[in-house]
Amino acid sequence: MAQKILGYIQLVWTCDHCGTQNPGAIKSCTSCGAPQPPDVQFTKVDPDTFDFIKDEALIRMAQSGPDKHCPYCGTRNLAEAQTCVQCGSDITVGAKVRESGGILEAQGTAQPAEPPKLSRGVLIFLILGLAVLCFLMVIFISNLTRTDQVSAVVSGGNWQRSLQILAYQQVSERDWESSIPAGAEIQSCSLEYRYNSDTPRANATEVCGEPYTIDTGTGIGQVVQDCVYRVYENYCTYTTLAWIPIDTLVASGQDLNPYWPSASLSETQRFGTQEERYTIYFSANGDTYTYTTSDADLYMLAEPGSAWTLEVNQYGSVASAAPAR
Ligand SMILES: [Zn+2]
Ligand SMILES: [Zn+2]
Repeated sequence: MAQKILGYIQLVWTCDHCGTQNPGAIKSCTSCGAPQPPDVQFTKVDPDTFDFIKDEALIRMAQSGPDKHCPYCGTRNLAEAQTCVQCGSDITVGAKVRESGGILEAQGTAQPAEPPKLSRGVLIFLILGLAVLCFLMVIFISNLTRTDQVSAVVSGGNWQRSLQILAYQQVSERDWESSIPAGAEIQSCSLEYRYNSDTPRANATEVCGEPYTIDTGTGIGQVVQDCVYRVYENYCTYTTLAWIPIDTLVASGQDLNPYWPSASLSETQRFGTQEERYTIYFSANGDTYTYTTSDADLYMLAEPGSAWTLEVNQYGSVASAAPAR
């Protein structure tokens, strides 16, 4: 978020001896002459309006850094002062620098409330919940991995092999102009919102929050606004040549001789991804089990009636299967 400076305003401070409100830049009370103590804060004059300072010298003073208090007499001095304007002491060491950088509220308005903290009860409840969840996960994983051996007989099976056919065709796509591949033909573009930037950019709209005032420690407040820049970029429709799936050939059967589907391809076609899936059915002591694999060699051993050994997990799923030896 970029901080944009709108200008500088006079602040005030209230004398804790006589209650007089003094202009921020004035360092001793205009009524009783008491110096402003380090713990007396600056406040805003008016909560809603900003009467910006035009005096360049005052603005330079606000930019030169927070004032400091003489370690001997307590008088406020400018940041660059070497000796105290009141007592003439050397104040290059030991001076108390005023706090600065804080956000000022108008006099009398409340500070924003602290965000609510998680109560202790809720925290304990969350930790307990997490522990229970971890415990259940451990049980779940151990049930998945813990298996029993089951002797079974193959009762049947089936296979399916599929083959994708791709064609080199003109396709229409949409993307940001900077990401469009070379050689593509751009049809049309329009500006669309893409991201937020902290710094001004071309084709960006500025979105700013409410102005607020920062204590510079000099009796002058810096009025700023937090801004972001919504950046718009060209989003385009373009055409390009690409390999795209136009068909999927499928062969399937219930025998032990799987084969790949065949096709004659034209010059602008080629095969894409191929997939194979084999399912073997078993029966064991009245129970039935199903095992699915992509291992063609294993499937071709699944002669109906042959004896196999299965590893069955605690949820009844077959984790692995192999012919019995
Ligand atoms: Zn006073
Ligand atoms: Zn002094």
